[in-house]
Amino acid sequence: MNLSRNHTATHLVNKILRDLLNDRNLIQKASLIHEDYFIFEYSSINTDKSNEIFPQLEQRVHLFPKFLLKTQTKIFFQINEIIQSNFRLTVTSHTYNSIRSDPNICQISNESYPNEVRCVNIDSTYSRELCCGTHVSSTKQIEDFLLVRVDSKGQSNKRLYCVTGRFAAQIRNLFHNDFQKRFSNLETNRDHLPLDELYDECRKLREIYLDEKSLTFPFNQRSNYYNRWKELMPDKKLLRKYLSNQINDNLKRNFISSNADLPIYDIGFMLLRYNDENNLRRHQSFVIYINSTQKILIFYLKNPRQREKIIEHMKTKYRMKHIDNFDEYDQQTRDLFTATKKLLVFQPNEINFFEKTDFDQLTTKLFSIDF
Ligand SMILES: [Zn+2]
Repeated sequence: MNLSRNHTATHLVNKILRDLLNDRNLIQKASLIHEDYFIFEYSSINTDKSNEIFPQLEQRVHLFPKFLLKTQTKIFFQINEIIQSNFRLTVTSHTYNSIRSDPNICQISNESYPNEVRCVNIDSTYSRELCCGTHVSSTKQIEDFLLVRVDSKGQSNKRLYCVTGRFAAQIRNLFHNDFQKRFSNLETNRDHLPLDELYDECRKLREIYLDEKSLTFPFNQRSNYYNRWKELMPDKKLLRKYLSNQINDNLKRNFISSNADLPIYDIGFMLLRYNDENNLRRHQSFVIYINSTQKILIFYLKNPRQREKIIEHMKTKYRMKHIDNFDEYDQQTRDLFTATKKLLVFQPNEINFFEKTDFDQLTTKLFSIDF
């Protein structure tokens, strides 16, 4: 029964594609009928037109072609409408010569037909196709139809994967129960989730959504879900900022805990950049100020090339004195300076510099300058 359901549905797909693409010469390349699904492969000889309607279809899932989605949605609704209309199927016999040039009867080009042919008619004239397969007796017996996957085979060839009957119903169920629930949950809870968790969950949903092998996602829902998904997905800049803040916090904690014996008063600011404009992974130096009771400002510099520039800058712009002699400081501080060659230490010329200075602002400014 399912074989005849699936086979009959190929007649509908054939007819509707011809209408939608406005291509009477659309070629049905193949139809593979399985018990649980069927494949309908076609090519439209009007390649220009087909390119216009189906832009960039090489990878359907990555591109989400809008026109295709529209077309698929239409196919979906039209076929189910026809199923519900319960069109009757009839078979008529003809001599091939009497119908061979009838434009309303679909036939496979280059096929050699016998003298006597069978024409399968859906609702007498809605669709007429030469065929000797097994069909249901009315469209309602197809029960349900779902277009679950579309592959592009070259410029003008498309391969559609479809399901009918209880398989379509099952897929619909799976979709409603699992994916849809998970999706709505995420929508409801998005404001209560940390950005990175929201991002992870969005990625997981995207994987399900894009899974080529999965037949669980009704195609006609795709554009709707894709738009909602775009809404859910955190803004990249915000996410990057969030993640770099998190890393900074971690660094800060690690730095403090691994240097517990050092006279660290506070770590004023750290700056760490993930990707520069060329998308190169790059770390930027960060600033610490240690022991503000001793009135010094300390920069941690990963990049030695920045050294001279930043010294010059601090001297002229902030009237800071660069310190390289730590004899006056306690042993721990001295050890810190000698242990790492990456520290730059400044002492302000002005006595109340630390009281007046907002370090976050200062360091943000400093590192927005291209040293
Ligand atoms: Zn048939």
